Amino acid sequence: MRRLPVYFLIDVSESMVGEPLDQVQEGIGAIIKELRTDPYALETVWVSIIAFAGKAKTILPLTDIIQFYPVKLPLGSGTNLGVGLDALRLELDKSVKKTTQDTKGDWKPIVFLFTDGRPTDNPSLAIENWKKHYGSSAFFVSISFGKNTDKELLSSISEHNLTFEATDSNSFKKFFKWVTASIKATSQSIADSNNQVIDLSKDPNKVVSKNTQEYSERIDENVAVFLAKCQNNKTPYLIKYVKASKQTEIPGLDFETLYFRLNGAFNIDEESYTELSDNASQGKQISSEELLGFPTCPSCGNQFGFSTCSCGNLLCVGDEEVTTCPWCNVQAKFGVGEGHINLNRAKG
Ligand SMILES: [Zn+2]
Ligand SMILES: [Zn+2]
Repeated sequence: MRRLPVYFLIDVSESMVGEPLDQVQEGIGAIIKELRTDPYALETVWVSIIAFAGKAKTILPLTDIIQFYPVKLPLGSGTNLGVGLDALRLELDKSVKKTTQDTKGDWKPIVFLFTDGRPTDNPSLAIENWKKHYGSSAFFVSISFGKNTDKELLSSISEHNLTFEATDSNSFKKFFKWVTASIKATSQSIADSNNQVIDLSKDPNKVVSKNTQEYSERIDENVAVFLAKCQNNKTPYLIKYVKASKQTEIPGLDFETLYFRLNGAFNIDEESYTELSDNASQGKQISSEELLGFPTCPSCGNQFGFSTCSCGNLLCVGDEEVTTCPWCNVQAKFGVGEGHINLNRAKG
């Protein structure tokens, strides 16, 4: 039986924390559920999930959709696309059956790359290697969530590039329906004609907009993420802000100011976060003046989830007399800060 291998290469960098990651996780579950009701897909489709941040990891090796089990996507620091592509290539080397003189191998694999940010490594060598080995023997579809991706770079990997700008849950659902339809159509073309045609056209514009942006267009990062630790439980959490703008309130002046609005604070799994993060610090800072809203601690509920220790790290602070920093163990009495400070941003 010739299989149709489908790979999901998923950016699990910090900026995906919260809703986007949940949506992708649910979306993949929905894709599989839907494919299981399709006789053609049932016969041919196998899926694999590879996550990448600073490092990459195969979350699900190539699996029959009947055997598929729901996965929990990890999070990590960094968006090392080169590392992700190398992991993808090795996974294909390992799992895709090649055609030999005697037997027909698997159908052309389909890869869906989901990403929401610019690479934090230099992926040129990995792209070159990918194209050399799989440029013509796999379909590669890149999907950008939001505007903060490098379209030029993505289109150097393959001509199938889509941008998905709305990120509310309804659009996510429609988008995953579109992915499902593409996979179904491909397995149907195999069943009908024994000939593989990838159909990415099933009206994607209703769901996603094709990349038509000028390559030179550069848009500022729209998410700021911070890593903090709970003083009481010693567990890490991410605090996420999303860029917003407002008109000045001073009468007679007409200009916009940009700021970051609190999106939420999210507990993360320390073990997988450490496993998928690279250790290089990005050294980018942001002033607390640009941030609007501060979270409580998502782990213990302490009122101040965004306090800074003299060691430079973030922690939660409550009404205790003496605070112990979960990063450096220094004990201090924390007051409510005056003025603004510069904060180290996570890579995203
Ligand atoms: Zn706490
Ligand atoms: Zn400290």
